[in-house]
Amino acid sequence: MKYTSTRSFQDIESAQAITQGIAGDGGLFVPREFPRLSGGRLEQMQAMNYKDRAVEVLSMYLTDFSEAELRRCVEGAYTGTFDGENPAPLKEVAPGMHFLELWHGPTCAFKDMALQLLPRLLTVSASKTAPGRTMVILVATSGDTGKAALDGFAGVEGTRIIVFYPRNGVSPMQELQMTTQKGDNVAVCAIRGNFDDAQNGVKEIFADDSMKAWLDSAGMEFSSANSINFGRLVPQIVYYVSAFCDLRKSGKLAEGGCFNVVVPTGNFGNILAAEYARRMGIPIGRLICASNRNNVLTDFIRTGVYDRNRPFHTTSSPSMDILISSNLERMLYHVYGNDPEAVRGLMKELKEKGRYEISPEARHRLQSEFFGGFCDDRATEETIGALFREHHYLCDTHTAVAVNVYRQYTEQTGDRTPCVIASTASPYKFAASVLPAVCGGPLPEDGFAMLEKLSEVTGTAVPAPLANLKNCRVLHNACVSREEMGDFIRGFLG
Ligand SMILES: *Cc1c(COP(=O)(O)O)cnc(C)c1O
Repeated sequence: MKYTSTRSFQDIESAQAITQGIAGDGGLFVPREFPRLSGGRLEQMQAMNYKDRAVEVLSMYLTDFSEAELRRCVEGAYTGTFDGENPAPLKEVAPGMHFLELWHGPTCAFKDMALQLLPRLLTVSASKTAPGRTMVILVATSGDTGKAALDGFAGVEGTRIIVFYPRNGVSPMQELQMTTQKGDNVAVCAIRGNFDDAQNGVKEIFADDSMKAWLDSAGMEFSSANSINFGRLVPQIVYYVSAFCDLRKSGKLAEGGCFNVVVPTGNFGNILAAEYARRMGIPIGRLICASNRNNVLTDFIRTGVYDRNRPFHTTSSPSMDILISSNLERMLYHVYGNDPEAVRGLMKELKEKGRYEISPEARHRLQSEFFGGFCDDRATEETIGALFREHHYLCDTHTAVAVNVYRQYTEQTGDRTPCVIASTASPYKFAASVLPAVCGGPLPEDGFAMLEKLSEVTGTAVPAPLANLKNCRVLHNACVSREEMGDFIRGFLG
């Protein structure tokens, strides 16, 4: 299995795609072709547990890894880190409506599924492409990714991780999650400024030659854990394959039947993983792409025009507040029949004008697979309340957007195919928005009081990683200006 860039022809192995993160031409790495899971193999996989299914899927993409290496990575990622035997359980909440719960990991959001595994894939990749060198991960975060990356990299040999976040740009709970992170190889630092300052600061450091030379002389190099890394995409394909196996095993899906998948979408990484599962032979019908008021993808799927020139909205589903969906570039490559020249042109237009339009053929191909829809914060809140009252199932704001768009889809199309809804965060992670949806009265001010009230009202348990924060010590309290980020990094790395 070889990888190429979405913007020019390349021929590299997965280990290089993972250590490099992004191609030299600015494109993203994609598999040159898709491996196929035969019906017989899928039949056998029904009897496997999640980890065995993961090794099976990973071995088809990461063909330059040995089976023992993959096994070690998967065991490390999913043993003792999630709150149950299966990291991605499937719950049928109403007939034909299944929630794929991806938030049972250490930070209570779906990014754990990939970020528990990526650090391990990265160290094995580095041992092949840059043996003996330490990988230094820099992350600028507006909240969730930072903690998930910290937790994934903490204690992983051969890596150091440094996370920068905007001092006044994350919730108190998110800040506490990061500043209490344990591990000798982790550093957390607040920035006096907003998320863009943190992000731009990190980008400058990545491009700084004197910093690179300094790292090189110390036997280290920078790498990235962001969602365009193929090493974050491939663990996400696993849970769609696993969901299919569970549906078949429980008899909820007839032999030869297909199912739809609904994904609350921001950067297009999660839904792209479902598309990749389909290309491997998983019988997925429609892919339903759900957005909040930042509905640039809804418009794109409906019209073929991608236009980021629009107001940015801060919503109750903040992990989807995105106007540039970076993983969409991979989808463009595929709907253009693997044409790097077409992608290069579109990305140039996006950079220069903030807008592009795809060809009618590409649009038809896209529309034959995807449905796009969106809803606002009020509809999100109503959906959480209705789902809880009618089915006694509590979901978070991001998942609620998916449920709302799924309802729109069934009303418009009458399609009653069984569906899998990607449930991307624990409702407790967004308690301030979830609580008013299920009960009236004033909101408690304190974050922990909110968690307890939500538990009382709904009869569900506060996830341990959030409840335990109360007893954790703050270990990181550095705060620097953007200009001082380089010094902070040098100081930490020694
Ligand atoms: C990151 C995130 C999303 C969006 O996922 P993409 O892969 O960026 O589309 C949705 N929900 C939650 C809770 C997230 O953290």
